[in-house]
Amino acid sequence: MRRISVISSALMIALTACSLTTSAPPRADPTAIPPEEEQRFTQQREQMVVKTIKNRGITDEDVLQAMETVPRHLFVPEEQRVQAYGDYPLPIGFGQTISQPYIVAMMTELLELEEGDRVLEVGTGSGYQAAVLAELPGVEVYTVEIVPELAQRAKETLESLGHTEVHCKQGDGYYGWPEHAPFDGIIVTAAPDHVPQPLREQLAVGGRMVIPIGPRGGYQTLWQFVKQPDGEMKAYNKGGVAFVPFTGKGIRGNEEGGGWPP
Ligand code: SAH
Repeated sequence: MRRISVISSALMIALTACSLTTSAPPRADPTAIPPEEEQRFTQQREQMVVKTIKNRGITDEDVLQAMETVPRHLFVPEEQRVQAYGDYPLPIGFGQTISQPYIVAMMTELLELEEGDRVLEVGTGSGYQAAVLAELPGVEVYTVEIVPELAQRAKETLESLGHTEVHCKQGDGYYGWPEHAPFDGIIVTAAPDHVPQPLREQLAVGGRMVIPIGPRGGYQTLWQFVKQPDGEMKAYNKGGVAFVPFTGKGIRGNEEGGGWPP
């Protein structure tokens, strides 16, 4: 008797597991979320903007609007969705993370982008930061990701949300995207231990680079650099941050060469 009930409960679990896998909605399909849940996410997003972004001093209206518009819950793995609007980073697979919303907003504001500007992001990850940049009026977005699976997934997520205008590339962002340089803004969302020389060269005069720099495995300092007419980079310290390491041959091959100040 006991044996039968053990077998039948095992069967139940197998059936449940089976029905779960076959009925699972595809990733990042906005129509797969019931409207009540969507509404809850919208409310959470509004609260996130007020409590964790506006209250900490972000004032740029375009940035606030972008943060209120982009559905962050569609850029995180399904099992993280309920936490998507929390005041912290979240894992996105391959040992990488989607940054804390406040950090995304602050870095976006520090880029000081205007209509007609072109911006390069190094470290597409989930595609969330790229989507926030793409929401800024008249800004053209280029983004590079080194992990092929993440690059592919981010491209699909961005396209499924209608951001077909974002230029995505898989590759080592140490070398930037020379074909589309110069950029008015460059944002780096992984931490190198020096400013990659190609990125410095691909920044327009008057352009802003926002980048965390620090020793591998440690905390970093977030810098805003503004390129001067003579090519010098004026540096503004924006405080301590914790980003995933910058990877790839470019950074390893240039460990001795980079140096500080950039
Ligand atoms: N901006 C992302 C955060 C991603 S975390 C988002 O909104 O989700 C940093 C990302 O930088 C990771 O996906 C990592 O794979 C990527 N990365 C690290 N080194 C890189 C390099 N040399 N070139 C391009 N991407 C890199």
